[in-house]
Amino acid sequence: MLNVPSQAFPAPGSQQRVASQGRSKVPLKQGRSLMDWIRLTKSGKDFTGLKGGLIEVTEEELKKHNKKDDCWICIRGFVYNVSPYMEYHPGGEDELMRAAGADGTDLFNEVHRWVNYESMLKECLVGRMAVKPAVPKDCHEGKRVLNGMLPKSQVTDTLPREGPSSPSYDWFQTESSVTIVIYTKQKNINLDSVIVDLQDDSLRAEAVIKDHSYLIHIGLSHEVQENFSVRVIENVGKIEIVLQKKETVSWKCLGDPLEKHDSFIPKKDTGLYYRQCQLISKEDVTHDTRLFCLMLPPSTHLQVPVGQHVYLKLSVTGAEIVKPYTPVSESLLSDFKEPVLSPNKYIYFLIKIYPAGLFTPELDRLQIGDFVSVSGPEGNFKVSKLQEVEDLFLLAAGTGFTPMVTVLNHALTHMSSLRKVKLMFFNKTEDDIIWRCQLEKLALKDKRFHVEYVLSAPSPEWNGKQGHVSRALLSEFLQRSLENSKVFLCICGPTPFTDEGIRLLHDLNFSDDEIHGFTA
Ligand code: FAD
Ligand code: NAP
Repeated sequence: MLNVPSQAFPAPGSQQRVASQGRSKVPLKQGRSLMDWIRLTKSGKDFTGLKGGLIEVTEEELKKHNKKDDCWICIRGFVYNVSPYMEYHPGGEDELMRAAGADGTDLFNEVHRWVNYESMLKECLVGRMAVKPAVPKDCHEGKRVLNGMLPKSQVTDTLPREGPSSPSYDWFQTESSVTIVIYTKQKNINLDSVIVDLQDDSLRAEAVIKDHSYLIHIGLSHEVQENFSVRVIENVGKIEIVLQKKETVSWKCLGDPLEKHDSFIPKKDTGLYYRQCQLISKEDVTHDTRLFCLMLPPSTHLQVPVGQHVYLKLSVTGAEIVKPYTPVSESLLSDFKEPVLSPNKYIYFLIKIYPAGLFTPELDRLQIGDFVSVSGPEGNFKVSKLQEVEDLFLLAAGTGFTPMVTVLNHALTHMSSLRKVKLMFFNKTEDDIIWRCQLEKLALKDKRFHVEYVLSAPSPEWNGKQGHVSRALLSEFLQRSLENSKVFLCICGPTPFTDEGIRLLHDLNFSDDEIHGFTA
């Protein structure tokens, strides 16, 4: 790693030496305060020219970026483009330029050790310093072994150039734990971007990066406890999986590679991986729809992203049957009560039982304590589509309501731009409306939320809207809160309903970018 001699800093007579305690600050231009910097970093501007991607930076490359208008600095192994920050730096531009094109870690540690630079400079992150390959240490003779420094797999090397760059991994240990670190080279990685399963001392960790999947698949060299933790350091795109050793011995290597270990392939080319989940509870929601609660194994980390689905697998008369289902939250009003069960260990589903169906009657026959196989998440809905949306319209028919649950939850809790979210819910009869009472409570609790029901086979007492999805119903419903407000529409239900709805939305001049139709 590069090092700038620390004796040279602070330079004699520099601002840092002037103050008796710590450093003094230079006067900043108007509009260059910390608040101004924070505002600028939240503007969505691309500060690195990498469109959110991260790269590996060699020493040679770092050295080239040593001018004020093109200034990269390495701090603790991560490289930042600090040119946009120059005018906002309280210590002045000259101080920053001392580490231009070099490793400024020592300089930084002397003056700023307490500063949360990872957060301050997160939009300026270019990537990580390239690590020089080390010679692998053998674990068992004749086997390829894992010490985190292996050459990249063939699959990785055949990736198309336009795909995201291949992640890498490394590991380290303490007396009691082993930490596997995945460097995704991608910002905005969340806890739902990683799925980890530990079974009989084989570890399978999948990181989903854009439309690709990076897999760590290892037969561990020593036994570990079934509980582990997963941490994501979002702004540097780092995932850490912390395993607890069963015995406090020093591991010479991580273990042996298993199938597809260290591969990075398009998600569509990966198979589904299932784990056995236990049925914890089953509760009637309507006359034919139930809320199922499944418990993940303690040795699994899996969070389903907003609007995505998983596959459930059961053996029906000797044949394995698989059907897609969309997880929901335990209720629409979760914050009205303390969560009884710890989050992320349980998955909830709203499932309609079709008496003549193939899968659902079998699912309904399961007893509490029985098992069902659950796949990892699938689906092409991305919450980024909702960025800066002011009016969100949800069109759901029957159980097509299920993806709307997490979308609605996300919208009301995370979208600061949101003015209004309206749900138009199509059902046959009043008895078919899922969570009607909760929907109405939510509308009372949060003034941004409105719900309207449309029934296709109402009782004579019904005085609400009737019929099927139509241009007249939609044009009345889809009123923007402001003339030019940014809108987004989600639609889900029986396929002909979704197709017809999308056709009508196009007719009403909504563009493809403004519509998401949920399908398999
Ligand atoms: P099926 O065997 O598929 O039968 C369904 C109905 O069709 C029954 O009434 C049956 O009698 C009738 N039928 C079957 N074959 C014929 C035929 N040839 N002619 C006439 N009628 C026929 N459902 C939910 O309840 N909750 C969810 O969260 C959910 N999420 C989904 C997510 C996705 C991405 C998709 C694509 C679907 C989702 N579904 C959801 C639907 C679910 O996957 C199943 O399709 C549904 O549960 C029916 O399964 P089944 O095997 O019990 O019924
Ligand atoms: P349902 O009760 O049969 O129907 C709900 C409403 O939609 C009813 O008013 C029904 O009217 C109407 N409808 C049905 N077909 C229509 C059409 N061709 N045009 C206009 N309106 C139509 O629905 P369900 O049994 O709950 O089924 C829900 C569907 O959603 C399933 O097909 C499921 O696969 C799908 N789903 C998909 C996802 C996903 O893709 N992510 C998630 C969950 C569910 P009628 O009275 O005339 O039938």
